Amino acid sequence: MEGTDTGEWFYHQRLADGLYLIRERYFESGNRANMWLLRGSDRDLVVDTGLGLGSLPEYLRRHGLLSGHRPLLAVATHVHFDHAGGLRHFQGGQVAVHRAEAEALARGDQLEAVSWLSPRELRRPPPGAGPGWTARGYRVQAVRAGRLLEHGDLLELGDTQQLRVLHTPGHSRGSVCLHEARRGLLFTGDTLYQGALIDWLPHSDVGHYRRSCRHLLELLDQGQVHTVLPGHFDPFGPDTMRSLASDYLARAGLCHRITASAIGCLANVALRGRHLTR
Ligand SMILES: [Zn+2]
Ligand SMILES: [Zn+2]
Repeated sequence: MEGTDTGEWFYHQRLADGLYLIRERYFESGNRANMWLLRGSDRDLVVDTGLGLGSLPEYLRRHGLLSGHRPLLAVATHVHFDHAGGLRHFQGGQVAVHRAEAEALARGDQLEAVSWLSPRELRRPPPGAGPGWTARGYRVQAVRAGRLLEHGDLLELGDTQQLRVLHTPGHSRGSVCLHEARRGLLFTGDTLYQGALIDWLPHSDVGHYRRSCRHLLELLDQGQVHTVLPGHFDPFGPDTMRSLASDYLARAGLCHRITASAIGCLANVALRGRHLTR
């Protein structure tokens, strides 16, 4: 539905039975995150929620993609603004994040959320924006998650459908991937996508990122991944996943760690400049 501009903030695309990709139409940036809806017989799951400038649950309901009687759970693969900004439109009990980032989300920590929006990334003002609204003033709102995730947790969507939580820190300390073994689906958030992987933010850790990549390669070696549904850009298959994880491991040596930490300091200064001077 990307082609038809209906004026709505979101658009969606059905990828497989009960699996939908949703994006923010007017946010034109490498930071535009993928949001996923996975419908189960007992419960629906949203993976990542975008900036939160429009209401995702309202959009999904309007398009008949959510059932009124099935409970809904929104999981953020991590608390960066492009994934967790939309959690505010879900009730607290319907929100899940990894334990390591739950506190930051609950206090609306803009540094940990890496909140950063520029006017040139938005093709039009968001729904309901008043005259004083500015992209630079964008903030992630504090949300208290009702469910804290740990490595190995199972998210039950129905009798035969469940996703396992894999804690894959590195990009951020609470990054998770979600694995649906039945169809070999792997939601990777910002841990793996077809673009420059980011390991230089304030809570990034190159050593943890390396370990997470090795863990994902093991999953691949066990033949458990057929389709990767990443946090940005298009889905891909196991061969691309292998190259992305192996390339990272080959690249992220000592020199890389030093560069990442230097860029991290600059990013920290820039974020503090934007968020702590107001
Ligand atoms: Zn991120
Ligand atoms: Zn992202």
